[in-house]
Amino acid sequence: MEKNKKNCSIRYTSLKQSKHLGTLFKCANEMLLVMETLARRRLDIYQDLRYIICNENKEESQDHLIRCKEQESNWKSVENFAANLAWTALPEETKKRTNKESLEETL
Ligand SMILES: [Zn+2]
Repeated sequence: MEKNKKNCSIRYTSLKQSKHLGTLFKCANEMLLVMETLARRRLDIYQDLRYIICNENKEESQDHLIRCKEQESNWKSVENFAANLAWTALPEETKKRTNKESLEETL
């Protein structure tokens, strides 16, 4: 089924923003392909599950990606992007009753 473009009011300003939103969605739904997942599929190939970006000697899992200090600024960026995107999609009437900071806290 073809998506009705007239109903799609959210526009991405860049490919990078679109990727940020995709990452957020995948993480929220535990769909990010991490070593933990790969090892479950092919333990013969993926034997070292440590997350190599930080030196915390932690397994690369959905949970660690969310909590890792090395990813903190990236997650903050994703949160800001999601809040801005949600704000632009809100009806003007709703915007008058709230503010962007409250929306960010909700997200
Ligand atoms: Zn880490």
